[in-house]
Amino acid sequence: MTFVEPGAPGQLAAAVREGFAASYGAPATVVGRAPGRVNLIGEHTDYNAGLVLPLALPHATYAAVALREDDRVRIGSRQKPQPWVATLDTIGPGQTDGWAAYVAGVLWALREAGWQTPGVDVYVDGTVPLGAGLSSSAALECSFAVALATLLGKDLTQAGRRTLIEACIRAETEVAGAPTGGMDQTVSMLAEPNAALLIDFDLQTAGPVALRLPEHGLAVLVTDTRVSHALTDGGYAARRADCEAAASALGVASLRHAGIAEVESQLTNDRVRRRARHIVTEIDRVAETVEAIRAGDWLSVGSLFLASHVSMRDDFEISCAELDLAVETALGAGAIGARMTGGGFGGSAIALVPLDRIDGVAGAIDAAFIAAGFRPPNHLLGEPSAAADVVTENGLARSS
Ligand code: ADP
Ligand code: MG
Repeated sequence: MTFVEPGAPGQLAAAVREGFAASYGAPATVVGRAPGRVNLIGEHTDYNAGLVLPLALPHATYAAVALREDDRVRIGSRQKPQPWVATLDTIGPGQTDGWAAYVAGVLWALREAGWQTPGVDVYVDGTVPLGAGLSSSAALECSFAVALATLLGKDLTQAGRRTLIEACIRAETEVAGAPTGGMDQTVSMLAEPNAALLIDFDLQTAGPVALRLPEHGLAVLVTDTRVSHALTDGGYAARRADCEAAASALGVASLRHAGIAEVESQLTNDRVRRRARHIVTEIDRVAETVEAIRAGDWLSVGSLFLASHVSMRDDFEISCAELDLAVETALGAGAIGARMTGGGFGGSAIALVPLDRIDGVAGAIDAAFIAAGFRPPNHLLGEPSAAADVVTENGLARSS
């Protein structure tokens, strides 16, 4: 069994400082840290003005940053051998590609928002698996954003963080060219430890939902199927287009404002109707999950997870054989609930598991994958963790 460890923030911050110094021959000034995320429930609801309930992982990306005196931009990563070099005026939509666009895009978006910045040197390292549906992309954007904000004397209050969230979303959609509904950047910037974050994309609010899993003898087991999901592929855009078609046929601004009765009776296109049914029922399931968590009714949470998975598998059609197998095997091996998580077409599954069944469930999934001829997956524990912040010399995130 392979469990991906989150690593100790102090050690990882020291390692990224070393990587920076080795790359650029001078010390970094600030290290930003931003978590990956796993979504408990609420899939594809963000761009439908709906609800989502993600938590920040203890796994994070660390960005060591220093301001330069000229307009050069240098970006390196322990995860990518190819460093990236440019000047400020050559960064922007249509001009920047490759992995560094997630960092350079944040710099561009903040300059567009009026920030005055010189060039920067950046070096990143981290423990969020790349392309596993756990939002290494938002972790990368947000780790750089908090570091840059701190270097420029900007605050990391709620209002300051909102500015950074907007810039990170623009970086991902406009510069990296990957569609995103905004959940990933929001949770990476606003999460609280021991809580999931309920985000309402209609009211534009986000608030914590206490999630003290160990007290209830439970853990969130995340299984990375290692099937790469590529959001830039057509599947995500096609789902989005179907949702827009459904909303316009129903005469509502977004599916948040549609009811299931009208979806069933008024949408004549079978595919569009099933897509809309997923969104409308999924938004309700998020609200019901929050109520069940608050009531300590974990069996209901588990049932809602399963209903969500079935909806994504059959109505929204974004699951795949590996995700279905992970979910079915987890349930058979003692999980209370399980579902695919993230945008779909690969990526990760989650299971709500009694603490004494973690190894049993992970082992059963590995065995099922091997028997099916799939690559063995990676696992990690989704312990609800803190939002992005800078890491001080003693390794603790600064309170802000
Ligand atoms: P996810 O966000 O689910 O991990 P994405 O496809 O949205 O998947 O983002 C993954 C991409 O983000 C990687 O392919 C790479 O381009 C970039 N990326 C994320 N983290 C890093 C990192 N630490 N170093 C370099 N590139 C990274
Ligand atoms: Mg991503």
